[in-house]
Amino acid sequence: MSIKVPCKNCGVLAPAEDFKLHHKYRLMVCPNCYTGKTEQLKQKAAAQEKAPTRPPGWDKEDEYLERLSVMRRQENQSQFSKISGTDLVKCACSNCKYAFKYDPSKKQPKTCPYCDAPVPKLRTYNLV
Ligand SMILES: [Zn+2]
Ligand SMILES: [Zn+2]
Repeated sequence: MSIKVPCKNCGVLAPAEDFKLHHKYRLMVCPNCYTGKTEQLKQKAAAQEKAPTRPPGWDKEDEYLERLSVMRRQENQSQFSKISGTDLVKCACSNCKYAFKYDPSKKQPKTCPYCDAPVPKLRTYNLV
């Protein structure tokens, strides 16, 4: 019986004697990786991810709404909200939910004063 070992490239178990040195990866890889099968499967999976199957009746309006919800989601991720009358913003810590004042011009504080989790970068400064 041959010993099966995990491929360092794809993690799949394959008989040790089938492993060959791959020039590109500079690794001993399984037959699938050696013949490029793993790469093909990866590309196929990536292509499928890029083109998600749309439900029937999908139209422009749905597309717009979806884009809008994605934008909203991204805004929520930023966790910042402007404190009116000041240059400061309120930041809600994603880790402990502690809300604190954040100074975008000084980029202070760098971490949550409560749990010391890093404050995410305020990328889009378009808060009203
Ligand atoms: Zn492999
Ligand atoms: Zn925190």
